[in-house]
Amino acid sequence: MADYILALDQGTTSSRAILFDQEARIISQGQYEIKQSFPHPGWVEHDPEQIWETQLSAARDAVGKSGILPDQISAIGITNQRETAMVWDKFTGKPIYPAIVWQDRRTAGICEELKQKGFEEEISSKTGLVIDAYFSATKIAWILDHVEGARERAAKGELLAGTIDSWLIWKLTGGEVHATDVTNASRTMLFNLHFRAWDDSMLNALNIPRSILPEIKMSGGQFGTAKEHWFGAAIPISSVLGDQQAALFGHTCLEAGSAKNTYGTGCFILMNTGTEAVVSRHGLLTTVAWGIGDEMYYALEGSVFVAGAAIQWLQEGLGLIQEPASSEDKAREVEDSEGVVVVPAFTGLGAPYWDMYSRGAIFGLTRGTTAAHLVRATLESLAFQSRDVIGAMEKDAGMPLTELRVDGGAVRNDLLMQFQADILGSDVTRTDYSETTALGAALLAGLTSGIWTREQLLTFNKSERVFTPLMESEERERRYLAWQDAVSRTMGWEKH
Ligand code: ADP
Repeated sequence: MADYILALDQGTTSSRAILFDQEARIISQGQYEIKQSFPHPGWVEHDPEQIWETQLSAARDAVGKSGILPDQISAIGITNQRETAMVWDKFTGKPIYPAIVWQDRRTAGICEELKQKGFEEEISSKTGLVIDAYFSATKIAWILDHVEGARERAAKGELLAGTIDSWLIWKLTGGEVHATDVTNASRTMLFNLHFRAWDDSMLNALNIPRSILPEIKMSGGQFGTAKEHWFGAAIPISSVLGDQQAALFGHTCLEAGSAKNTYGTGCFILMNTGTEAVVSRHGLLTTVAWGIGDEMYYALEGSVFVAGAAIQWLQEGLGLIQEPASSEDKAREVEDSEGVVVVPAFTGLGAPYWDMYSRGAIFGLTRGTTAAHLVRATLESLAFQSRDVIGAMEKDAGMPLTELRVDGGAVRNDLLMQFQADILGSDVTRTDYSETTALGAALLAGLTSGIWTREQLLTFNKSERVFTPLMESEERERRYLAWQDAVSRTMGWEKH
């Protein structure tokens, strides 16, 4: 009998399911789009019933198409959009309000109040986060405050609250298990990283009863069994982790110092810092990478707001390229950017600068500057911004980057990848695996259920190409200093 693993990947735009075989190869897949609604400016919601139905259908499609029998599936792994939160009725299973999505800003006011009450330091040291509407806690509090009778029902033990992983676990187990994992818990602003538990002071501050929250488990563990009627066999749920953490695991960044960068609209960077939670001095987030057995691994997380979006700007805003992929050929028309530096701080600057008044700028223009120089300098800005974040991670963690593994739409651009290696002075490893997030959930489920050893995991998701630094270190530092100088000159611009 073969061991197959079913990964469920519940994202912001779709619910996906992928069935993997013993070699971690994709056997079959299912996918359904999900809707977002925007009832007011700044509000973003999902219908939780649609999340469940699409996720179930996607999983059934994957199993149905595979040609294997349901009892050949050894385990289910779940990965999910993080921070999105919801509340449902424990007895009827009906959500009492739509899921409030991570992008939703409606609770910014609650966050301001927390700041005024002086919670910033406490939240940072206990949860590793900055106070922001992004995280789940204020979303749960908002639902309890705005749905009639919710607070009374919560106090009477009639309601359950959780993130999307909890909702899926509860549905799959027929309401038997109300659980979450340490990675999802670490994105709520309620999870004490040091005690590995919901924090009383945070629960009190937001008036959230502990009894409605899920039990916190390690990411690789037993989350109950999906009922037989869903897939034709009872299947244990053996891993649960948030999508960015799943991608880090799928890249097999299992050692401290290894990191992954996803180059999409923005860049999402996570660095494994080992078994110590590192509190950032540069505005990065401390998050749980995963928990396995008794051990929790931590990560530093940082993002670049405008990455692939800058390439879209070249196309749509400036009309310099026909499509993002042609940025590479355009940039190759010139030897280098000839001193041109583009700082795409269109919406301000994130880590490590944190200046919301910064705005984009182009430096070093001469009469000889062409479209190709601008395109090349814009591509380079993705790599410079990633180095800014990775440099901050290295300083916070007190350890050098050992390897950067990459995925996302823009990694097809060889010029960008080579420049990234050059400007970091480290190898950049591109894998040919397009489903790193689902793979991460599958690998952890397979590790937990004894299908693979840790050593075997490292043989999956092999590199397709390694970009090795070719730039002289003197040149690297000269160019990076010029970038930092350019960034400093964009700061505070919006105040004019
Ligand atoms: P997301 O998941 O954020 O939508 P994707 O991973 O699909 O993003 O990547 C799309 C982004 O990558 C777009 O912003 C696009 O501009 C950029 N992109 C895609 N292909 C290339 C390329 N060959 N070179 C540079 N940027 C690219």
